[in-house]
Amino acid sequence: MANDLVIKVLKTKTKSLNLSSRKITDLPEAFARLTWILTLKLNNNYLSSLPSELQSLRHLTELNLGNNVLEEVPSVLKHLCCLKKLFLYGNKISHLPPEVLEGLPNLVLLNLNHNSIKVIPPEIKRLCALESISLTDNQLEQIPAEFGLIKSLTEINFNNNKLTQIPQQLYNLSQLRKLYLARNNLTELPEGVLGWKNLKILDVAGNCLSVFPVGFQFLALKELFFEGNCLVPFTLMESIQEKEALLLKELSARLILKESTNKFSVVSKALPIYPELQDLLSQWGQCALCAQPFLTTWLECVQFINLWKHMGMKSSQSIPVRVLLCSYDCFNRNDHLYYRLIWI
Ligand SMILES: [Zn+2]
Repeated sequence: MANDLVIKVLKTKTKSLNLSSRKITDLPEAFARLTWILTLKLNNNYLSSLPSELQSLRHLTELNLGNNVLEEVPSVLKHLCCLKKLFLYGNKISHLPPEVLEGLPNLVLLNLNHNSIKVIPPEIKRLCALESISLTDNQLEQIPAEFGLIKSLTEINFNNNKLTQIPQQLYNLSQLRKLYLARNNLTELPEGVLGWKNLKILDVAGNCLSVFPVGFQFLALKELFFEGNCLVPFTLMESIQEKEALLLKELSARLILKESTNKFSVVSKALPIYPELQDLLSQWGQCALCAQPFLTTWLECVQFINLWKHMGMKSSQSIPVRVLLCSYDCFNRNDHLYYRLIWI
C-alpha cells in the first residue's frame, strides 16, 4: 500500500507525503527516489528502523516518526541536514546519538516526548538553530550545561522526568519564553534567575521546592504553576537575633570585595595578579538591605511575594522568595518584611 502511494507521488511530484496510520513495518526501496519531497509523515505505524536509502531525501524539512517502535534514533537522520522539524515522540528510544545531533544544524523543533531517554549528550549544543525542544515523559536525571549555549531556544519542555537540579547555564537562555519543569524532583532553582529576560511561562508544579531564588519577583512572568511543592508556609514568626561574630576569613573577604569596587584602590590593582583569589571572590553576594558584599556567610531569609500585587499576574497567591542579608544588624532593622529562614 505504501508502495502504491510512493508511485503516485513519483508521478505527481507532490512535495508532501502523508503515510500516517497505515500499519507500515518497512519502507519500500522506492522511497529513495522521492528526492524533492519536503514533508514526510510516517507517524502511527510499526517502524523499528529506517533504511539508509532515505539519505537521498536531501530536501526534507519535516519528518514525523511519532508513535512507531523505534528503539534508537535512526542514524540515517544525520544526513538530512535540511530538517527543521523532527518528531520522534512515542517510541522506545533510550539514548540520543551525538553523531545524529551533529548532522542537524538547521533543526528548529525536536519532539522526543514519551520515550525512555536518560541522558542528553553535550553535543546537543550542535543544534544551534533549535527553538523548541520537548522531552516530556522520559527518564532524564540531568540536563547538560551545554544547553545554555543554544541561544535560539524559546521553549523547553521537561515535564515528567527525574531531574533533581537544573544547570545555572540555563539562565543564559535570554530568549526563552516557556519553560516546563513540572513533576520532577527539583529541590531548588539555582541563583541567577534574572537571566531569563523573556520568560513568560514557568511550570514547576509537583517538585520539592521550598523557596524561589533571589530576585524571582522581577521576572516578567505571565503564568507561574507551582502547586504540589514544599514551599515555606506563610506562618513564620518575626524575631530579633543576637549579633554574630564573623570569622576573619569572611571579614577579610568583605573588605577586599568592597575595596575591589574602587578601581583606584591598591586591592583592585593587585587582584589581577591573583587569579585564584579572583575566582574565589566571584561567588560573592549582596545584602538586600544595605547592598554590602559578602562571600561565605549570610543570613537566609524569605520574603513573601504576592503574584498579583508584585508581579502583575492573575493569581493572588503568595510565594516565598529567597533573600540574603549580610548581618543580624541588617536583619534587626525595622524597615523590612523579611523572615529568617532556618533550615532544619
Ligand atoms: Zn546588610
